[in-house]
Amino acid sequence: MTEQDIAVETLALTKRYGAVTALDAVDVTIDSGQYFVLLGPSGGGKTTLLRLIGGFVRPTAGQVLLHGADVSDLPPNLRPTAMVFQSYALFPHMTVERNVGYGLRLRKLPRADIERRVGDMLALVGLDGLAGRMPHELSGGQQQRVQLARALVLEADILLLDEPLAALDAKLRKDMCLELKRIQEQVGITFIHVTHNQEEAMTVADRIALIADGRLVEEGSPREIYQRPRKRFTADFVGETNIFDGTVTAADGDRATVDLGFAGVDVPADRPELQTGAAVAVSVRSELLALFDAAPAGDDWQSMPARYVKEIYLGLTTAHRLLLPNETEVVVQDLSHGERPAFAAGQPLYLGWRAGDACLHTD
Ligand code: ADP
Ligand code: MG
Repeated sequence: MTEQDIAVETLALTKRYGAVTALDAVDVTIDSGQYFVLLGPSGGGKTTLLRLIGGFVRPTAGQVLLHGADVSDLPPNLRPTAMVFQSYALFPHMTVERNVGYGLRLRKLPRADIERRVGDMLALVGLDGLAGRMPHELSGGQQQRVQLARALVLEADILLLDEPLAALDAKLRKDMCLELKRIQEQVGITFIHVTHNQEEAMTVADRIALIADGRLVEEGSPREIYQRPRKRFTADFVGETNIFDGTVTAADGDRATVDLGFAGVDVPADRPELQTGAAVAVSVRSELLALFDAAPAGDDWQSMPARYVKEIYLGLTTAHRLLLPNETEVVVQDLSHGERPAFAAGQPLYLGWRAGDACLHTD
């Protein structure tokens, strides 16, 4: 990969506000043309990182490279970036068309060019026919599309979006997610999208970086982050999972045996450095656990005894809650079927999973 293909590279990027370290030596690389999501809990440093990339905040230490050039000292308008803010921030007294064309008029482009580019943008974001409306005559989703058009029309090649869908209701947010993805694929520029919502992240992202406590915790494709999280934090933050603490009793490079106190389990390890005696965690996603009357046989299966507590019917899925011998709660998610509860409170059962479905975490 050449330097040209990298849109953003941060080097030990750090931002402190007095005693608060908002961002702590973050190294992240974002390829050109990617839909890249910064995902994590509130207060983790996502907005700070996005604003450092856009030039709205100056770093305390470290550098920001955009297309290989150090822009750490450049103001936002001299960077190849455009920002879509969380609040709509449209000019209330201007029509949709004038809102979208605002930045181009500032640049003193010929009137015909402005009209053509604004028209193209309104078509792209699905606002054909609404050019003459005022912002207060638009729904929340439409206002968000105007914001997007207003940023895209500037033809920056890195678009920064800070919680762009946070003000929309759940159904609209889903539709707009798919729209954002379609628009990004159509224009082909780099999108960097901040969200605390993991479903939103999974829907749009080519790659996801988890940001928490001012650090980059882990980065990968949505599949990697969901199916093979390396960090315990990632397993816990993304999706619903069950995490068991234990001690390594045997390790041979790509497999480990972990003693959980009441059961020993085999886990794929992929960690050559793992030592016997190490404290680790094992996680298994709730939908990858199944319930059995007897311990499932076969090398491929892993299992542990548990006591049934109750089910919670969620519509698409049913959550079964159980207790392990050490009183830890476990949740098994199943597609809902049948009309009556399948298990009784207190019933002794076995939890089983395919050995390859468990993940090992050393931190
Ligand atoms: P996120 O976007 O992930 O919710 P932020 O980047 O907004 O997180 O904030 C990261 C941390 O930096 C938080 O502890 C926040 O309170 C602090 N912070 C952000 N901006 C400022 C500021 N202007 N002054 C002081 N502290 C700030
Ligand atoms: Mg934020």
